[in-house]
Amino acid sequence: MNSLLHRFLDYVQIDTQSDPESNSFPSTEKQKNLGKLLVQQLLDMGVADAHLDGYGYVYATIPATSSRNVPVICLCSHMDTAPDCSGENVKPIVHYNYQGQDLILPNDHSQVITTEEHPYLLEKIGDDIVTASGLTLLGADDKAGIAIIMEVAAQLMQDQTIEHGGVKILFTPDEEVGRGVEHVDVEKLGADFGYTLDGGELGSFEHETFSANGVEIIVHGVIAHPGSAKGKMVNAIKIIGEFIATLPKHELAPEVTEGLEGFVHPTDIKGGAEKASVKLIIRDFNTAQLDIYQSRLKDIMDKIMLNYPKARYEFKVTEQYRSMGEVLQHYPAVIKHAITAIEQEGIKPISIPVRGGTDGSRLSFMGLPCPNLFTGEMALHSKHEYVSVQDMEKSVRVVLRLLQNWAGE
Ligand SMILES: [Zn+2]
Repeated sequence: MNSLLHRFLDYVQIDTQSDPESNSFPSTEKQKNLGKLLVQQLLDMGVADAHLDGYGYVYATIPATSSRNVPVICLCSHMDTAPDCSGENVKPIVHYNYQGQDLILPNDHSQVITTEEHPYLLEKIGDDIVTASGLTLLGADDKAGIAIIMEVAAQLMQDQTIEHGGVKILFTPDEEVGRGVEHVDVEKLGADFGYTLDGGELGSFEHETFSANGVEIIVHGVIAHPGSAKGKMVNAIKIIGEFIATLPKHELAPEVTEGLEGFVHPTDIKGGAEKASVKLIIRDFNTAQLDIYQSRLKDIMDKIMLNYPKARYEFKVTEQYRSMGEVLQHYPAVIKHAITAIEQEGIKPISIPVRGGTDGSRLSFMGLPCPNLFTGEMALHSKHEYVSVQDMEKSVRVVLRLLQNWAGE
């Protein structure tokens, strides 16, 4: 069995599910089990400074082979798996030389990965496809990325003739619960640029994401005994209700938007007659557009409030994350070297803006510009998750090219 596949099968069998309810860091101690194994494997390869820190991050350095002054590149993947689906006792199955059939998962025959739902499979005929067994997710998100980076590390350590600058490895916990970069020590890491390996389809390269704000609207009504409330009571719940009913329905909502369209999305309401509130998330690829959405929400509220002069409202905005495109536009080489590396391997680059954030979006704003490269991981966070071994192998080759492109600049 090839070493990349071997690594991948080992990693997915270690349960690293993160927990959104936990207040500790990492959110689950078991994530460190994978971290410890990765550190040991890196040390065995000769990567002398590999270590796991108290937060559960793995840091390691592969020294430069180039004598020139080459930017230091970080390769980053996350070790945890999504809380949406069990990651306990994962039994990976390799479907060698896949022939385009629907894949019935052996431990629960109702779990079928169909080519109708996953047409990408039809592009993978002849590949070796890895799936879970029907009871759990696979964890290719993001253990495919981990296996790819570990394989790159092994090849770089074995073959000193590959010319590259310093390479930093960073494996993070808790990405799936949105806290993956919370305790990254960017200074200690000491990289100039980074790439996360957490993308899907062969050739995909993501360097733009949503920009995101959170909005909270708090309505203060007027309370009175309902038996004698005539002319006095103003019910905050009813004002919030009107607001939600007035939100755009045929545009600007996640259920009717796709591609490059942004949205406004109520996620949570709470309260009583005296005080009620609604939380919304707002998203767009163009950060300036967020202000326009916020004004629109305020206009809706102002109009409603004309009918309730005794009530008042607060409008709170929190910045959540920004498109990494805002940072990356200043570093065109980060994008150029990746696109070139993909093309050099005979693969068509696919750059689709991500309708969400990535660890890389936050890292980009922490001083480490960091787009996202493909790994082949598909149907994430579900029992139908799968990955092509050949896609992972191509990702290894692209990363090796990428590092050499930086050295040859
Ligand atoms: Zn992921």
